[in-house]
Amino acid sequence: MFRMKNSIRENNSILVLSEIINRPEISRAMISELTGLNKATVSEIVRRLIEDDYVIEIGPGKSTSSGGRRPILLTVNKKAGISISFDVRYDRISYLITFLDGEKIEYTIEEKNIDKENIVDLITVVVEKYKAEYLDCPFGIIGVTISIHGIVHEKQIDFTPYFNLDEIDLVGILEEKTGLTIHIENEANLSALAEAAFDYEHHNIVSFSAHTGIGAGVIMNDQLYRGFRGKSGEVGHTVLYPNGTACPCGNQGCLEQYCSTTAVIKKFRLLKGNPDLMFEDLIDAYHQKDSSTLNMILQFAKDFGIGLMNVIGNYDPEVVYINSELLEEIPELISLLQHYLSMTIYKKVPLKQSLLGRQASLYGATVVNLKEFLHVDNVEFNMNIEKVLEV
Ligand SMILES: [Zn+2]
Repeated sequence: MFRMKNSIRENNSILVLSEIINRPEISRAMISELTGLNKATVSEIVRRLIEDDYVIEIGPGKSTSSGGRRPILLTVNKKAGISISFDVRYDRISYLITFLDGEKIEYTIEEKNIDKENIVDLITVVVEKYKAEYLDCPFGIIGVTISIHGIVHEKQIDFTPYFNLDEIDLVGILEEKTGLTIHIENEANLSALAEAAFDYEHHNIVSFSAHTGIGAGVIMNDQLYRGFRGKSGEVGHTVLYPNGTACPCGNQGCLEQYCSTTAVIKKFRLLKGNPDLMFEDLIDAYHQKDSSTLNMILQFAKDFGIGLMNVIGNYDPEVVYINSELLEEIPELISLLQHYLSMTIYKKVPLKQSLLGRQASLYGATVVNLKEFLHVDNVEFNMNIEKVLEV
């Protein structure tokens, strides 16, 4: 399928390639300095990486302080392959196509009810289109990763509370149809990988996602922590109100029955006695300082804060990224939540708005594709975040 000539599983090659992919440009001498490999070894590895289309030379850099020849700079051959990411929730499918450096080729969102009947075709159509379009590209499609708003374990979807994807072997079916290796991962886990790929400073990150459900992705010492059965970070199913609203997980009073965006909209409709109200109406009512809406949002913030502190208490992260449409529209809630934390032992944990918003899980899926394809441990994107968020 792919015209990859040599495997790059060999350790030193991986080391060299990770240094190249994590920087916009780098010289052989610099690689030698960073990896501790001698210059001859680096040159030989680079020669093979260039021959196999992983890396290209981009011309001379600045001369060193001691004068002498200007070093030839190297960069990853970003156009040698493409990555495909999907994000699948019960009411929407979105996808992101990028080159190997994360540069966007296409980003599309389709509002649509998703179920086990239509998901395979929706994904296959996109994959086949790009397979044909990039037929002449050295590596073609380097990977397809699907973000699932539910629990995922060992390539199977274990639990999708609001739609029936857990009834099919999605990966098996798609691999057979497309002939490609397909990866799946939980949405919050992928969001955490994405935040980590853009945040070079922190190594212990929690990404707290609140959309149709609630989940947290946990990065510990630069590694994603999944738990034994893929259920780490299932904070949406921690109990907020014993004997409260029944949850599809089997418990009652779970956080996501009160604080997911879906739950908040539902509550707003009940409050106003109008089942047709939408998310935008809720935001309008808040900005118009409608008193019952303000009270509802204040209660939401208190509940959300409890969920947040439960996660922080479990994983003790350096920083928490919050990924929620509601908090994106009402950013002052972040300050309020930070104020709640300031009254507790968690006062030093900074809360930040997600860097990537609704594209987070898609970029996380791109990270998975790159890691699997290049056999590198970590991926850092050297992209301007504003450029990433351009649609
Ligand atoms: Zn639950």
